[in-house]
Amino acid sequence: MTHPVPALPVNPRLHAVPAYRQGRSAPSGASKLSSNESPHPPLASVRAAVQERLDGIHRYPQMSAPEVIGRLAQRYGVDPSLVTVGAGSVELAAQLIHATAGEGDEVIFAWRSFEAYPSLVRIAGAEPVMVPLDAEHRHDLDAMLDAITPRTRLVFVCNPNNPTGSVVGAAELERFVDAVPRDVLVVIDEAYVHFDGTEYTPRADAGERVRGAGLELFRRFPHVAVLHTFSKAYGLAGLRIGYALAPAMIAENQRKAAVPFGVTDLAQAAAVASLDAEEELAARIAEVVAQRDRLHGLLLAAGWPAVRSEANFVWVPAGDRTAELDELLNAGGVVARSFPGEGVRISAGSAEDVDRVAAALADAPEETRA
Ligand SMILES: *Cc1c(COP(=O)(O)O)cnc(C)c1O
Repeated sequence: MTHPVPALPVNPRLHAVPAYRQGRSAPSGASKLSSNESPHPPLASVRAAVQERLDGIHRYPQMSAPEVIGRLAQRYGVDPSLVTVGAGSVELAAQLIHATAGEGDEVIFAWRSFEAYPSLVRIAGAEPVMVPLDAEHRHDLDAMLDAITPRTRLVFVCNPNNPTGSVVGAAELERFVDAVPRDVLVVIDEAYVHFDGTEYTPRADAGERVRGAGLELFRRFPHVAVLHTFSKAYGLAGLRIGYALAPAMIAENQRKAAVPFGVTDLAQAAAVASLDAEEELAARIAEVVAQRDRLHGLLLAAGWPAVRSEANFVWVPAGDRTAELDELLNAGGVVARSFPGEGVRISAGSAEDVDRVAAALADAPEETRA
């Protein structure tokens, strides 16, 4: 017997929310360069740390993530209450939105930027305010300032920006942060900070080397939060763990907004093991950066308008040749992230992956070669 189709309720906020589109998976043997993942397999020490926790997976994880939060607090010389963890920094972005904005409020970010922002803002009931990037594919900070209204609660600055790889310099970012009213939270999303060209800054108080303009601004301004993730440079995308540094009141409200037990003990252990393996990871990051620059160079040499990147991917604003480039890569066994009519984002994989991109571009029929 068939049941009558019931008129099930639908949250009207979801009408404007597209389903999140994961970077396409690659057929076996192809290079998956669609999700900005690390091309390197997990470190042996990380595997061992996860293995060790497997016997405990019949228990809930430690919700307060004391070990990893303690380590991060020490590293950055901040009180542990200012550090929050989430199931990837995408969950932290959601927590920060829920902590600050609701019905009728506005959240500003550049566009194109991280694809999750518009959906997360709408799910929270707030209005996304998307400010176009400038002609060089960079954040237009003046236009973002102009977009602030009495209803603005939060501004995201994705730095380096996904998918363009462009960076807002420290001085420029400081001027912006200083010009934003103190009752608006500036969230600096530094998912790719490890790949930017800047050197590590030694931090005397923490005895460790850290990088990223966001941390310094977090220290100096009362209305700044910083998002970091273990997914990209640390290669833990599959385990889902990221962290935020945020002002005390914001962090407290993030914890209320978090989904309980979202970060597993396996993820926490892997994060701690990764913090213990910074030297090993630094070598991997240097390799990815070298492949990124090689990827950029060979795209330019093949006549594609690749943008100089300080992340682990390269943006090609191919415009109406986007489908052509995407097909060329596919035919050569490379799966990248295509934004129809706008461009293609290609993650910097291993040397072999980039070899494959080079071969795919060289296979272009003569008359279409740019
Ligand atoms: C990948 C990414 C993230 C977060 O990824 P998680 O896996 O959720 O930590 C956050 N911001 C940007 C801009 C990203 O590209």
